[in-house]
Amino acid sequence: MGKLIVVSGPSGVGKGKVIEELIKIYGEEGKKIFLSVSDTTRAPRSGEIDHVHYNFITQDEFKKNYENGNYLESNDYSGNRQLYGTPLMPVKEHLENGYDVLLDIDINGFKQVLNKYPNNTIGFFITVDFETLENRLRGRGTETEEKIQSRLATARKEVAASTIYPHKIVNEDNKVRESAMEIYEILENQYGEKTPCLK
Ligand code: 5GP
Repeated sequence: MGKLIVVSGPSGVGKGKVIEELIKIYGEEGKKIFLSVSDTTRAPRSGEIDHVHYNFITQDEFKKNYENGNYLESNDYSGNRQLYGTPLMPVKEHLENGYDVLLDIDINGFKQVLNKYPNNTIGFFITVDFETLENRLRGRGTETEEKIQSRLATARKEVAASTIYPHKIVNEDNKVRESAMEIYEILENQYGEKTPCLK
């Protein structure tokens, strides 16, 4: 049975890049990892590909899946009828086949997964200091001042709630490889086959 690795963090901390790098490290080490693709009812952003970044589905399809118990966890992220859910079957099958499974989900999702798989779920919260985050959000040059302030306020709340994560990773500028390696080494040294300390 593989491990369920949950990676969360505020927008702008470089979570996606750390996840990509972690998958690369698994490949280099000859280990099996599966990145779960979530269902969402939000519209695709430019550059996002259906079934690669998300499965983009309708509210009705989501509702049907939810009622049929097809989700490992699900969440109304923005409170604005933008729904996100982790399809259960692919996760279950990969875990049973010895894959570690990577979930890019928020804190509500982490709590649900921890509830369902208490023995092999490990949570990582990716963060940066607020000055770096503010510079990154401004550096994108695509957001209004109001949007930047609102994202920073959300990030502050998320960081404040992140104490339930056993591991916090500070992803400073140009340190993606180091952050991914830190996660990999924690998994190896604290949860590896030779040091089983999962419940
Ligand atoms: P975005 O819309 O920016 O891609 O994602 C918004 C937030 O939703 C991020 O924090 C992301 O990690 C989270 N998220 C993405 N997919 C899921 C999911 O299946 N379940 C939960 N609970 N959160 C998700």
